Amino acid sequence: MQERERDRTGQLDRRSFLGAGAGALAATAAIGPEAVGGQAPAQAEGAHRATDSAVLAKRKLGKSGIEVSMLNIGTWRSPGVERLLRFAWANGVRYIDTAKSYGSEPAIARWLQANPGARKELFLVTKDHPRSPGQLVEQLEKRLEALKTDYIDLIFIHAMGDHDFATEVEWPRSKEFKEAAEAIRKSGKARLVGFSTHHPRRPEILQAAVQGGFVDAIMLQSNPWIAQEDAMNRAIDACHKAGIGLISMKQVAGNMNLDEVARRLPEMAEKKQTPYQALLHAIWSDERFTSVCVSMRNTDQIRENTAAARSYKKPMSRAEIDRLRDACIAAGPTMCASCDGRCSHAAGTEAELGNLTRFLTYHEHHGYRSEARRQYAALSAAARNWKGADFNAAREACPNKLDFATLLPRADDLLA
Ligand code: SF4
Repeated sequence: MQERERDRTGQLDRRSFLGAGAGALAATAAIGPEAVGGQAPAQAEGAHRATDSAVLAKRKLGKSGIEVSMLNIGTWRSPGVERLLRFAWANGVRYIDTAKSYGSEPAIARWLQANPGARKELFLVTKDHPRSPGQLVEQLEKRLEALKTDYIDLIFIHAMGDHDFATEVEWPRSKEFKEAAEAIRKSGKARLVGFSTHHPRRPEILQAAVQGGFVDAIMLQSNPWIAQEDAMNRAIDACHKAGIGLISMKQVAGNMNLDEVARRLPEMAEKKQTPYQALLHAIWSDERFTSVCVSMRNTDQIRENTAAARSYKKPMSRAEIDRLRDACIAAGPTMCASCDGRCSHAAGTEAELGNLTRFLTYHEHHGYRSEARRQYAALSAAARNWKGADFNAAREACPNKLDFATLLPRADDLLA
């Protein structure tokens, strides 16, 4: 059970959860909403052509009007990407998310070369880290080379705000980014331009994009309860009204006790729904989001998440979402959701409690041990020093009610 939970957890964090090849285009005519759930992976992967009935529902991406799968597959450090892409394609996913730093572009390129017919149906997104927005124009050429394609559908500046928040918060309303975006769209090498962000102050970055008026789409860390908090809610609303397409990512990280969630929400069993499927339904209930990015790292996760997309018929009520939130938090630990860092403020410490628990999640739940240690080592000494922090105040302030008294010593043990 532990392994099963551990395995499932990955699907709900950023490059995970809510984070697959088109080589042998999948699914036979038999693959529909029901057939997918009961089909052995090998059978689905062996199928050769997708049918309309297999394609997942789509939503319009902002004012671009382009329709994209409501579920997309993130490919950060995914093992066996080509196999996963085949299976995701067979199960109706038509949107793939990658980035220069993910290392998955060559596998996507191989898959595309083996399946040239897939390109037209696919919404392909990649990202890069420019030193300034204008550099994105030349970086796009490199991304096309890596993906071995003439165009991509959307290019993002990756992790806006992470390198230098004060500078980067200005980019979405800057002349330089505007001119780069216009040049890229005009070239036809990327149809749309935007950015991704999980920065704690991302509401300010989103508002800057509304002011700039030239960004097509934003992928942001969110979940159904953070999206309702004041600053985030206002920023998401403003983007939606401005026609900026929104994609949700990194919804949940960390292991939840799935049995505990199910015990608290017996209606899930009646609906034959898993906690992660309920969480996806809760995200799709917010129509301001076009799609959800999930790193699906095995065929079970692809099957579970695509089945959730097929069974989504109507928005959950606020009361249902609140009950799901309470059950998820009670079945913790659900890890840092990268809010505005209020835990550190409440605890009276300069230590970055959110980052410390996030890196612990990478280490313990996703198996990215060296990456977790690398990111921990990159923090300043003050950001790592949580001694004297008021854990109770931090827990009270945290939307995910993290047990810092337990988690922070563990972070030290495993990451230092
Ligand atoms: S309060 Fe919670 S969700 Fe927010 S940064 Fe801190 S640990 Fe993360």
